[in-house]
Amino acid sequence: MQKRIVILFLAVLIVASAISTVAQTEEKFNFYARGPYRSEVPRPQSILRYDVGDHHTTYAQMEKVIDEIARAASDRVRIFDIGLTPEYRMMRLVAISSPENILRLEEIKSKVSQLTDPRKTSAAQAQAIARDTPAIAWMAYTIHGNESSSFEAMMQVVYQLAASVEPATIDILKNTVVLIVTGENPDGHERFATWYNSVAIGDADRNAIEHREPWSIFGRLNHYRFNLNRDTLAVTQAETRNMMQAFMEWNPQVAVDHHGQPSQYFFPPVSLPINPNLPQPMYNKWLEIYGRANAAAFDSNKWDYYVRDVFDAFYPGYWDMYPSLNGAIGMTYETDGGGFKGLRWTRDDGTIVTFRSSIAKHFVASMTTLEQTAANREARLRDYYEFRSRAMSDAAKSPLKRVVILPQGDKYKAAELIEILSWMRIEVKVATAPFTSKTAHDYLEKNSPPRTKTFPAGSYVIDLNQPQRILIKAILEQDTPQDKAFVDDNIARFKRNQMRGKNQQREEYGFYDITAWSLPLAFGVESYWTEDTTEINGSLVTKEAISASKQGSVSGRAKIAYVIPYTTDTTGAFVARLLQKGFRVAVSTRQLNAGGKNWPAGTFVIRISRNPDSIHETVAQYAKDLGVDVTAVDSGFADDGDTGVGGESVLSLRSPRIAVIADEGIDPESYGSIWWTFDRFGVKFTPITIAAARSGALKNFNVLIIPDGNPGRYFSAFGSSGINILKDWASSGGTIITARGASVFAALKDVGLTSSRLVGSEDDEQKSNVSSKSDSKEEKIIPAPSPLPKPAESTELKSDRSDIVFPLLPPIASPSASAYKIPEPLPGAFMRATVDRTSYLNYGVEANELPVLLASGYFFRISKEGGNPLIFDPDPKHPLTVSGFVWEGNTEPLLAGTAYLIDEPTGNGHVVLFAEDPFFRGLTRSTTRQFLNALIFNGVL
Ligand SMILES: [Zn+2]
Repeated sequence: MQKRIVILFLAVLIVASAISTVAQTEEKFNFYARGPYRSEVPRPQSILRYDVGDHHTTYAQMEKVIDEIARAASDRVRIFDIGLTPEYRMMRLVAISSPENILRLEEIKSKVSQLTDPRKTSAAQAQAIARDTPAIAWMAYTIHGNESSSFEAMMQVVYQLAASVEPATIDILKNTVVLIVTGENPDGHERFATWYNSVAIGDADRNAIEHREPWSIFGRLNHYRFNLNRDTLAVTQAETRNMMQAFMEWNPQVAVDHHGQPSQYFFPPVSLPINPNLPQPMYNKWLEIYGRANAAAFDSNKWDYYVRDVFDAFYPGYWDMYPSLNGAIGMTYETDGGGFKGLRWTRDDGTIVTFRSSIAKHFVASMTTLEQTAANREARLRDYYEFRSRAMSDAAKSPLKRVVILPQGDKYKAAELIEILSWMRIEVKVATAPFTSKTAHDYLEKNSPPRTKTFPAGSYVIDLNQPQRILIKAILEQDTPQDKAFVDDNIARFKRNQMRGKNQQREEYGFYDITAWSLPLAFGVESYWTEDTTEINGSLVTKEAISASKQGSVSGRAKIAYVIPYTTDTTGAFVARLLQKGFRVAVSTRQLNAGGKNWPAGTFVIRISRNPDSIHETVAQYAKDLGVDVTAVDSGFADDGDTGVGGESVLSLRSPRIAVIADEGIDPESYGSIWWTFDRFGVKFTPITIAAARSGALKNFNVLIIPDGNPGRYFSAFGSSGINILKDWASSGGTIITARGASVFAALKDVGLTSSRLVGSEDDEQKSNVSSKSDSKEEKIIPAPSPLPKPAESTELKSDRSDIVFPLLPPIASPSASAYKIPEPLPGAFMRATVDRTSYLNYGVEANELPVLLASGYFFRISKEGGNPLIFDPDPKHPLTVSGFVWEGNTEPLLAGTAYLIDEPTGNGHVVLFAEDPFFRGLTRSTTRQFLNALIFNGVL
């Protein structure tokens, strides 16, 4: 007993002294113990003028350090510019190797690249290359710009490799070419570093402002507020493209992505689920080799760390997974300090983690990884070749042999998808004649039997019998199964959660990220996979062919009108752009006859008489930019039907003047995905705060977009007066578009921007109809869950990746069976939505069904007073689930009959609700037309 008190007393003393002095638990790490060093190579500190971990280095300062080291160590170091960021910072790739290797970099690159094609390189040739070629190690730092330790560690690694003559370092240089990405997210890091340096006093108190990054800073994300560590799937951002291009040029055998968020250092092995496309036991074997080496180094430093736990290897859009799916051993390393923890941070036991110590851990892990790569060079190169040669010999065993993508529904979007595949060195053919498969499966049907299908000429064909097969399968297969043990464990948690009382905390699930991502589904392009590879007439798609498919055309200089059928998403953007420039555009609400042809309702008409002369060149320019095909019409006479270009059913559109809410508490990625979409389409918008919206700013706009955010926060930030302003503004002709959490806000009874209600909420009158097992009166279900963790408040998130995907667990802990009436949040699955083709929001949509990603428990009752352009229509033969994990007995029964997209007419205006983010990560694009239609038809239809 007494002993315990003494220990407690000591603990208090330690905590007290930790607060007033430096960290008690870790010695000051010596970064210069691995010499001797060449004196002509400058240490980073001699350029920066501060010691490691005393201050945050900006990008320009870092560039100076790297340049000076490279100049002094030109025998070992080469710098390559790999492309600009959106804010005009140059991304750099630093190659460091022995002087002999540096002189033959091109030769090394070419030899290693021969290992990527077993059709051209025999096993014997591969053995020879493996014997005498260095391995290539990709070391990338600071993809999350506010995970700042990695940025500083990188400079120390560069110095060590450039300056040291220590035998172990020399051995690394001989056996590897080290490629260092000096900053994967320069723009985000710069926001963070500049802000942090300006407010930091080095206070370890968790409440100090230096640990609370403002919304507008949040350096984790890039310029467009994209999480770059999710972007190797859709490759939307410049940073991703720059890195991917460099990666595919060098073909690394190991790749480390350096982060820094959790409470302890993490390195692999990883936890379940592991993407089943990764070849085993090869993948696990190498994670074990690197993991044990790191563990030995950390143990000898007496440093804490963990393996497995929350970091899985399932979603293929991370910068550890992309390398792994290309034959490298890709790994995420997470250090425990820096970033939001700043220079000093108090741990849960009162000890302090310092910026310097967390930099040291990355430095040691980086060097250990390079030593292991050097030591295992030949085996690693052999396995790298084996990765593709085995993939190809396994191709015959897998039912998925070919993917067919049809461009007819949107030639531009299909070309964008093919372009992404081409960046990944995936070979795509285009069929020049129709062909038939007897074993075709529609991507919109899960587990459907094979059937016969004839594909038209122009179809894109991706055969899996090619070197990139593993990557192709991982990103294109319709559904990727998770390890059974993992699934069973989560279902058991679900069942236990059903039994919990409302005041008992629910168990968390193990899902790290979305469980469905298949690119054809994400993009919403009509696609099939086949079990056969019928011979086709066709040729490999070239860069030129892709850009030709993205080109538009104008059939001539119109005398009377230009007619534009709505055949691509970009057509909507084309119209929005013209309207915003002040040109007059109209839409035909009935079948139109013009130029001797019938055009469907939803076709756009630009009448020459209503526009200035500059319309001709503007139409030509925008058509070219956005890949839109325009037909010039020289007579207003309709040969047939009731509607010609001058008809009563051709309605003038009004220019969309768009405001987007951008404010604290809003999901920055949701806002960013809208920003990025508008930018790439050339559509203008104005970001405004909620306070501005409440105090008169809306008068300048006719469209207001409210991105995903916490519904409760929206409720309190708008307040009843703000809600009334929104209603009045919509009634007088404005269009409000809401996404996800903002749609939940709109559907609150006390807000009433729609007659829809959230399924399972206390406002939901229908919820008692779903199950009769219990009386629902006892439940207190508030449809406004606890606030989103503000980025800056994300103190010691359990995992680095636990960002915005899965944050809004319903606030309910309901008694037993009644819980089945409440949708369990989905980690992210594609569901089949049915299209109401009569709604103007579906103008231009030819498909009767679309895949939509659901990544929440937000299901919306159909609007009783408005329209429901996309609903979940159950069909016993055709499940709603298309791909990904769903909760059996919960998801489908509760989703059936609800709406994904709602159009609520409000006075002269509309409220348009999307159940989810329309442009999640720039990856989901299946409802782009619906989103654009809400803008361009605002106030008219
Ligand atoms: Zn990170």
